[in-house]
This record gives sequence, C-alpha cells and structure tokens, in this order.
Amino acid sequence: MTMLNWMEQELEALAERSLERSLRTVSAAKDCQGYIESGGRKLLHLSSNDYLGLAGHPDIANAMRQALLDEGAGSGASRLVTGNRPPYARLEQALAVWQQSEAALVIANGYMANTGVIAALAGRGDVVFSDKLNHASIVDGVTLSRAEHARYRHNDMDHLRSLLHKHRDKRRKLIVTDAIFSMDGDQAQLRELAELKHEYGAMLMVDEAHSGGIYGARGEGLCAELGLHRQVDVHVGTFSKAFGVYGAYVSGSRTLIRWLTNKARPLIYSTALPPSLVAGISASLEIVQAEHWRRLRLREGSRLFRSRLAAAGLNVGAGDSPIVPVIVGDNAAALRFSSTLEAEGIAAVAIRPPTVPDGSARIRFSLSAVHTDEQLADAADRIIPIASGLGVVPR
Ligand code: PMP
Repeated sequence: MTMLNWMEQELEALAERSLERSLRTVSAAKDCQGYIESGGRKLLHLSSNDYLGLAGHPDIANAMRQALLDEGAGSGASRLVTGNRPPYARLEQALAVWQQSEAALVIANGYMANTGVIAALAGRGDVVFSDKLNHASIVDGVTLSRAEHARYRHNDMDHLRSLLHKHRDKRRKLIVTDAIFSMDGDQAQLRELAELKHEYGAMLMVDEAHSGGIYGARGEGLCAELGLHRQVDVHVGTFSKAFGVYGAYVSGSRTLIRWLTNKARPLIYSTALPPSLVAGISASLEIVQAEHWRRLRLREGSRLFRSRLAAAGLNVGAGDSPIVPVIVGDNAAALRFSSTLEAEGIAAVAIRPPTVPDGSARIRFSLSAVHTDEQLADAADRIIPIASGLGVVPR
C-alpha cells in the first residue's frame, strides 16, 4: 500500500469515529477582549488558556518590541552555544525570587520542559509514577526517559502507594503530576503526594501549567498557595497560558538547575527563544505578581459559571478552577454541542480521545479574568438549553 493510501484509509477511519482533527484560523477580536473572530463572526471566547487576560496587554507587547529592536529577531544558537542573551539572566533571577527557589531555568515551552526534565531525572532501571490524567508531555517524557512507567489511577493515592511499595527497591523514583489537571480542572492531591514522596524516598515534580499565575498571592502556583512549595523538588510551569506569552520554566535547587543545564536535551540541542519573547515574559511576570485583582476576578467568574451549569444538572467534574468541563461522553455528540454553541456565538471546542479517555468526550470551557459576570451568566444561560436539547443533561 502506498503512503497516501494507508494515510487516507486511517484518516477515514478517524473521521468515521468523529475523531479527525483539523486546523482552523481564528483572530483576536479587535478592541474586544474575551472574544475571537472566526469565519467573519465574533464569538465569546471560552476556549483559551489566556486565564489572566494578558495575551493582549500593551506593556508586554511594548517590552517585546523594544527587545526586538535592541537584540534582533533570533537568538542564533542554543543557549549553551551563543544564544544566551542578556534578557535570560534577568528573567531567571526574577523567576527564582518569585518562586522562592535557589534557581530557575527557562526552556522553550512546557512540552519541551516536561519531556526534557523527566528524561534528565530518570533513566533505564528507574521508575516514574504518573497520574493517568497527566498531560501528554509528561507521558512522552517518561517514554523518552526509558524508565518504567507506573501509572496510577487518577488521584488514587492508595493505588500510588501500592505501586511505590512494589517498586521500593528501584534506583531512582520520580512522582510527577499536573497541579491542576488540564482537561478536568480538578486538583492533584498535593499534600498526600508530598507525604508519599518522603515515605518512599522519591523525587516529586509538579507541573503548574494551569495553576501558575492563577494560585498563590503573587501567582506562584498551587503548591505555594497550599504551603507545600518546599516539599516539591521540581517545579515546572509555562508562560503560554496565564502569562499570555510563550515559553516555560523549571525552578528548584541550584544543583537541579546545574544538572538540567547539562542533561536536559531540549535546552542543549534546540535554539534559544528569541530575546524579544524572553523580555515579554519578564514584563508579564511583573504584571502577574502585581495584579492580584486578575486572580480574584477569575476565581469569582469561574465559581459563578461553574455553579450555574452544575445547578442545571450538567456534569462539570470535581474541580474549582477556571477549567470547566462539561462531560458529554460520545464524540459525535460533543462535536454537535460545540458547533451548536458556535452558532449561538460561543467558541468552545470539543475535546475527544486520545486527549481524554474513551467515552469521556467533552466541551472544555476555560475562562479568563477579562470575562464579566454578565457575559458568563449569559453564556451559561445559552449553554444549558443547548445541552438539554442534545440530551447532555443527565437528569
Ligand atoms: N503541561 C500541561 C498540563 C499542559 O496543559 C500543557 C499545554 N497544553 C503543557 C504542559 C505544555 O505547555 P506548552 O503549551 O507551553 O508547550
């Protein structure tokens, strides 16, 4: 069979199960935060990870523009060659202070940070304990590391304990978790994970992709908000979501950062981020720390939206974050739900397997500090009858 033949056959099979994906172009709506334009229509944007509404912030754009003029477009090489421009040192110092850690390291994005860090911390003969709902970049990191992959049932600490016990004699043990699970919006059992890490002599790595900027008095993340910061050996976070820019960080001890500088392959073998981006992240970090009102606003809006949907009988999961899933189950039904929402002026994409487990297709609403209570209440009031019409409401 030719390459085109087998691809077309398999794509057809995906389409038949309502699992084919395609790219579509959307634009930021001009002067209208919280909306996007798609196919010439303005839609309320409930599918972005721009949680604090910073992606369009003029101070960030201006910092990027200035650095672009000062430092040029590209960094020209990997950071260990000649790509380590001045904005990096400034940012990493500020990150370490913000995270109250000894040191921090910027890596190109969250996907590369997770894969690179996990593969640097574990190898053949080691074991990585990972929640079944952890992000794909964590799963891929474990595969790359060649360590044994011990996946525990979502947030099931008894299951994790039994796996830790089974592997207690392994050389190195790494427990890794999302802080807020990206497709469900619920929290990891961070306190219990910290206890188990101590009990079994494991390392603990937490991915704050969906909690960095959102939790903690200065947006340090969920571990800091819960007072568990010092129990965690490796913090990873991304600048592509609440920070509204792009890129990622790792923070922890000086020794950890020294180790990663020598062993994290995405740092070593990939060109450094453009200096303008690094300057944009620094500008965003200042706003994230200073403008606590964005976190409060996001929290209020999320509670209102979530409770309104739940009161109508929709299954919104167990979370308390700006990620509000409405579980549908069937793939085709989730697609119909999304297209009906779009016809009603709401952009909210259907999330299907393999991003989520089979039979749990959903609409993943993600909210932003720029959304007003009125917008969210009005959206909820439009979502509920659509869900009822499609038979999504269980009662
Ligand atoms: N971790 C989690 C939990 C995520 O949801 C994502 C992004 N979808 C990433 C890591 C990857 O981050 P980035 O987009 O910066 O590559």
